[in-house]
Amino acid sequence: MLNLYDTATAKIRLLEQRKPGELSIYLCGPTVYGPPHIGHGRATLVYDILRRYLEWTGIKVRLVSNITDIDDKIINRAEREKRPWLDIAQKCETVWFESMSRLGVMRPTDVPRATEYVDQIVGLIAELVAKNAAYTTDDGIYMSTSVVKDYGLLAQQNIDEMLAGGGDRAVFGADQKKHPADFVLWKFSKPGEPAWPSPWGEGRPGWHSECVVMSLELLGEGFDLHCGGADLRFPHHENERAQAVALGKDFAHHWMHNGFVVDTEGEKCPRVWAT
Ligand SMILES: [Zn+2]
Repeated sequence: MLNLYDTATAKIRLLEQRKPGELSIYLCGPTVYGPPHIGHGRATLVYDILRRYLEWTGIKVRLVSNITDIDDKIINRAEREKRPWLDIAQKCETVWFESMSRLGVMRPTDVPRATEYVDQIVGLIAELVAKNAAYTTDDGIYMSTSVVKDYGLLAQQNIDEMLAGGGDRAVFGADQKKHPADFVLWKFSKPGEPAWPSPWGEGRPGWHSECVVMSLELLGEGFDLHCGGADLRFPHHENERAQAVALGKDFAHHWMHNGFVVDTEGEKCPRVWAT
């Protein structure tokens, strides 16, 4: 049992471990389409300090942190610069670890890449389709969030409140969705885009499906702690969890979200592009 200070409630909370003496952690890693900025360094340091502290107390830590190496941002940059998408992803991954190493951040124990788990992701989506928790549109396979009774748990809002507040534009507003909060699991590819086979047509996985699959594949059900930036709480983490819940899988038992580096106006740190 670990004691953690909860900044949201200003109380000490107990963190129950799945296995005494060990802690399994999944940290959402970078989408490798550009160089990291100071905010990435800050976030990664938070969990590096946590890991080092836990290890110092004698706990065996397994820290899985993924690389999102297929994403619209990578594809868009590849098109813009007329370069292979894989070239961008691989170079940016190298730069990422060089930068983190300069900050003294230890390499995670496991670094899964999304493109290495496409078969398993297709398998998870097929399970959701078989359970009527997902459906097909013209541009992909979508998750039906209405099958998840407590959807909105991490966002700490129910669906109606999210809609009243305008929600997230990336999530709310696509055509043909049965519910505005439904999100893409599999995107059909356009000509020239990277594509993998699936029972529904060639395409690529949605980001939320990548992390739920990689965390469960490597850490197993009921792993201890899922981490990431505060901006990932919703929709990314909510949607990871929704897929696990819809399949009756025991997902992360605890969540931790870090704040941001902000400027004097309180604005989130801007991305500065290298030339
Ligand atoms: Zn993630």
